[in-house]
Amino acid sequence: MDQLEKCPANYVPLSPITFLKRAALAYPDRTSIIYGHTRFSWMQTFKRCCRLASSICSLNISKDDVVSVLAPNVPAMYEMHFAVPMAGAVLNPINTRLDASTIATHLRHSEAKLFFVDCEFIKVASDDAINLLVSSGEPTCTSPLVVVIDDIDNPTGSRLGELEYENLIRCGDPDTEPHQLTDEWDPITLNYTSGTTSAPKGVVYSHRGAYLNTLALLLQWGVGTEPVYLWSLPMFHCNGWTFTWGMAARGGVNVCIRKTSAADIYSAIMAHGVTHMCCVPAVFNMLIEGSSILMEPLPSQVHVLTGGAPPPATLLEHVGKMGFIVSHAYGMTEATGAALICEWQAQWDLLPADERARLKARQGVSMLSLADVDVKKQNSTDSVPRDGNTMGEIVLRGSNIMKGYLRNPEATAKAFEGGWFSTGDAGVIHPDGYIEIKDRLKDVIISGGENISSVEVETVLHGHPAVSEAAVVAMPHPKWGESPCAFIVLKGDRMENIVKEEDIIAYCQKNMPRFMVPKKVVFKDELPMTNKKTVIKSELRKIAKGFTVVLEEKSNDVREHLPVWLSMMSKL
Ligand code: ADP
Repeated sequence: MDQLEKCPANYVPLSPITFLKRAALAYPDRTSIIYGHTRFSWMQTFKRCCRLASSICSLNISKDDVVSVLAPNVPAMYEMHFAVPMAGAVLNPINTRLDASTIATHLRHSEAKLFFVDCEFIKVASDDAINLLVSSGEPTCTSPLVVVIDDIDNPTGSRLGELEYENLIRCGDPDTEPHQLTDEWDPITLNYTSGTTSAPKGVVYSHRGAYLNTLALLLQWGVGTEPVYLWSLPMFHCNGWTFTWGMAARGGVNVCIRKTSAADIYSAIMAHGVTHMCCVPAVFNMLIEGSSILMEPLPSQVHVLTGGAPPPATLLEHVGKMGFIVSHAYGMTEATGAALICEWQAQWDLLPADERARLKARQGVSMLSLADVDVKKQNSTDSVPRDGNTMGEIVLRGSNIMKGYLRNPEATAKAFEGGWFSTGDAGVIHPDGYIEIKDRLKDVIISGGENISSVEVETVLHGHPAVSEAAVVAMPHPKWGESPCAFIVLKGDRMENIVKEEDIIAYCQKNMPRFMVPKKVVFKDELPMTNKKTVIKSELRKIAKGFTVVLEEKSNDVREHLPVWLSMMSKL
């Protein structure tokens, strides 16, 4: 066996970039991108990316330089996922909902050399963020070269300087050979976390990790050939959960839309026969509220992959009844998107709808790209028992875990302590091996020594017919330390006149153990959301901190009687 060696014929570094050339050869005339009236074929997309890669190189961008982009889901954003690494550089997609100062922070920290800006974001990016960068006066801080991306379907004529995206494509050489990757561990993209738990950190993916997780997710979601994929999930979110590269692997159609609105989603479904889309659970509410736009049943089977936040079972059931075929994955920026997926079992098809939704709301089993997943008891190397009850921290190990945090060795070392990536999420393992998230560790409410999962309380609240959105956080309690406080958005405008705090509390009392019942319910018009449409619980916690619970004279809380029972028992 010893004389069998690696050679260029049998050992080629893994990279999702290879999917593009293959798509051009295997499906040259098949549609690759639809955006408004603009259409490209896979051969055209390949050639455009080669041209762009060659122009990027001619701008003196070399290996491992960071190229940032601030753009919605337009063709340029898709193309850059290939063209930038084809030039040997690292793509840094910036969240389009960020403010100028955060954008400037990302540009400064990443030391971006080139900055592509969609025409919609010129003010925030170039005028404000770049100005902040220049005026910061830090000697090491140089501002990147800016390239404007005009709307290809509806040009605005926006210019900032000499550089414009379509010009770069026109001037580039279509026969450029992509940068020859010699090490699959080389960086491909840089994605900043949204900072819900701490300051944003720059997560670096390798070509290898991106390749493996792309294939794993296609396989585990069951994406066949010729999908029509609607870009309802931002490409800046973990590179569109790897479907940027994945659609090239499947020769799919990328239906690009600037904004994720119910109207745009439904009209894309009707016009293009969308078969697949991804979204965070919050978008389900949008689909439900906007369903009147759809005057007829869904024209085709639309598979939806949801994740990014816990999807309430009631919401899964509702969207399922509307005809969407929903799958559920769990992940995070550090795991190149998906880490677990709730793989469906045929035997569950026979169960009642609510039971099916409950099973689907579990986060599931590991992605094939992971070597291992476990739930460890807190501050211990022991695994929790598979009883669906004992909470611990979800930890991951495998090839889809990030290379590390850019220029942050302390945070990287901490994240990888003990040979596992610590997710910071609290979960349980069910006897069938499926993992279920109970909370983010810091969101667990500790009430009188009892752990209350805010997700479990939220799940019950979502079952109330008048509740549209619910978030539960800890508020101070004079006796129990903490107790749950619920923030609720009701369905419809004037519901507050009909549904009162006491109604919600009474509903909870019927549907959950007493100690889990929120002691306070606050109605809101909307919940504070991160730019990835997940609830910012830290903001709610700040509000809840100001609430005080008035102790009742007599309580039915079981823990109140516990010391009495224990002393009685000890006397027996
Ligand atoms: P951030 O940048 O804030 O870390 P991420 O998008 O990486 O944002 O969020 C990852 C977190 O989102 C996970 O650690 C977990 O708490 C939550 N999350 C993601 N998917 C799910 C899911 N399917 N169910 C429950 N929580 C989820």
